[in-house]
Amino acid sequence: MVDTILDEIKQIKKYANDENIPIMQDDGISFLTTFIIKNQIKTVLEIGTAIGYSAIEMALTSPNLKIVSIERDEKRYLEAVKNIKKLHLEDRITLIFKDALDVSLEDKFDLIFIDAAKSQSIHFFEQFQKNLNENGYIITDNLNFHGYTLKKEEEIKSKNLRALVRKIKEYKIYLEENKVFETKFYDIGDGISVSTKKINSEEKL
Ligand code: SAH
Ligand code: MG
Repeated sequence: MVDTILDEIKQIKKYANDENIPIMQDDGISFLTTFIIKNQIKTVLEIGTAIGYSAIEMALTSPNLKIVSIERDEKRYLEAVKNIKKLHLEDRITLIFKDALDVSLEDKFDLIFIDAAKSQSIHFFEQFQKNLNENGYIITDNLNFHGYTLKKEEEIKSKNLRALVRKIKEYKIYLEENKVFETKFYDIGDGISVSTKKINSEEKL
């Protein structure tokens, strides 16, 4: 049984590699799953399913964990559906095939994991913070963006890439200056942040 799970995960990672799908890196995933276990997270909202890899890794941390995950790319969404079925996790991972910008949810979650279009992170943070449980966490991936955010602007040749890197830097400043949430930054994987509501944030508003 364990062997088959590991084999399935190996195949998912291989597919991601072959098709250039930016799934979480190994140290990022182990940070995320350890975080979930340590903080006894029971519900997760993920923005950016891709082919279901991170959702599956999160779900495998505990049989009590439930995940809702949003993906706008049809091919990836269908691949995720397939992968989640193979691992028999369809009762615990609910997929939404839609642009996250058009998704409005009522439920509240212990963890919101933002791992979609990097230029839209501020938007997702603003849009979904109402879905966070009191004492919940918002984790964001790819804050280093393959090391680009650590480079000087003039070192980046492509104009589009420069614009994207600027957006990610803006997101970091937005988090640093946020009055309601406090954020810790980790140089793990491709750069991860963990945000949680400040105590007495209402008073500070
Ligand atoms: N979390 C995944 C990787 C996600 S890659 C893992 O680690 O396994 C980012 C994904 O976000 C891509 O598949 C992309 O199609 C999706 N995405 C980007 N912007 C989106 C949006 N606005 N709404 C929904 N999905 C989005
Ligand atoms: Mg990512």
